[in-house]
Amino acid sequence: MARSWTSRVGTVLLSAGAIVGLTAVPSSAGGGAGSAGAGDPYFPLQGNGGYDVAHYDLTLATTPATGRLDAVAAITATATQQLKAFDLDLRRTLTVSAVTVDGRPAAFAQPASLGQELVVTPASPVRVGAQFTVVVRYGGVPVEVTDPDGSVEGWVRTADGAFVVNEPQGSPGWYPCNDTPTDKATYDFHVTVPTGVTAVANGELVRAPRTSGGRTTFDWHLGQPISTYLSFATTGQFQVTTGRTPGGIPYFTAVDPAQPSDLSQLPAMVDFFGTVFGRYPFSSTGALVDDAPEVGYALETATRPSFDSAPDELTLAHELAHQWFGDSVTVARWRDIWLNEGFAEWSSWFWSEHSGQTSAQQFFKKYYATPASKTDFWNPPPGDPGDAADLFDDSIYERGAMTLQALRVKIGDDAAFLGLLHDWQTAHRFGNARVEDFVAFTVARFPQVPGLQHFFQVWLYDPGKPANW
Ligand SMILES: [Zn+2]
Repeated sequence: MARSWTSRVGTVLLSAGAIVGLTAVPSSAGGGAGSAGAGDPYFPLQGNGGYDVAHYDLTLATTPATGRLDAVAAITATATQQLKAFDLDLRRTLTVSAVTVDGRPAAFAQPASLGQELVVTPASPVRVGAQFTVVVRYGGVPVEVTDPDGSVEGWVRTADGAFVVNEPQGSPGWYPCNDTPTDKATYDFHVTVPTGVTAVANGELVRAPRTSGGRTTFDWHLGQPISTYLSFATTGQFQVTTGRTPGGIPYFTAVDPAQPSDLSQLPAMVDFFGTVFGRYPFSSTGALVDDAPEVGYALETATRPSFDSAPDELTLAHELAHQWFGDSVTVARWRDIWLNEGFAEWSSWFWSEHSGQTSAQQFFKKYYATPASKTDFWNPPPGDPGDAADLFDDSIYERGAMTLQALRVKIGDDAAFLGLLHDWQTAHRFGNARVEDFVAFTVARFPQVPGLQHFFQVWLYDPGKPANW
């Protein structure tokens, strides 16, 4: 994520604070049921227990003029315990009309007391280890989700469609899912819109758009596993460009005519980061540029980052670098957000340096000149944001990127530092990781560099402006 506006300091704390302490929320269905949360204290009801999703097949029909969404979600999962009942995450602004499990009608409820939980009770329990398919028919007018820091996400309506971004909790605003970063899955999207509107999602268009009776369907497929917050299906008026990077990666860009954008550096950025961080994780790349002034930030939606407005060069580089750091190596818990934002921000500095502009060390010097008295710049420390409302504070980005640049200087050998980033990304490809994992990975790799534990303590965890590292 990268902001095109500042001052997101949280004012809407109640929604997060009110449910703190419910980390191990049981499903309302009682014994033998999967839990209603995945255990992240920042978002206790996010994700669910008892199963692991392999694939989402989403059939979405939407009409921009009304905002109406009618949909069928087919979710293929494996039970990790016997399931008398289980939950999916789905906001109650969308109404479920039918649920089946392996083709048999299942009982379901959307209890108001559980917020975003869709409780499903199969006709007979799902056995532990069994693969099963749950099909949910639902519809309504999606309502955007407001986050603890006051920003909006989810299905955000625009003048000509909807701009869809889901970090950290927007996905249940438009489809039922296991909304935890740790449950990665592949996707198919079949999005039907009025002819003339374009629908853009993750992955590749698997066939030419199909038009019938004034409606056109776009079929997208993503064959690599991603976290739910990185999925999207945005609709509107777009100018489409396709091609291949010099390195051979297919790209698809879609740009709202209201936001003319210079994406000319995109192929070179993707290829450059691939040479530094390791092979590009996905089977295609690109960008989606919308005109969504209400949103105020860009997001690293997998394969194809989404921009609420025309991006500048650094923002484009930041979101593309996330394809490695965030989309391939993903946070295990939201408090690990530095592994996403610190790394993507530093990568944008490194692109700038590589292309003969401001160097990463010059960025470091500029930001390090910020006085210690500017506590909002230096806090919270990036290794522990402390609260869901502070996930995307400036310090996570700028102090977070400075941490990597200071580490580069401390290691004192560019090839060794870049090798660290390459091997970290490769070791956790399509996986999840914690900040502590990166610290341990680095300390084990550089036994000859003294004081690394102290270095990480000062830069990642101590409040205030780092000194004496
Ligand atoms: Zn970011």
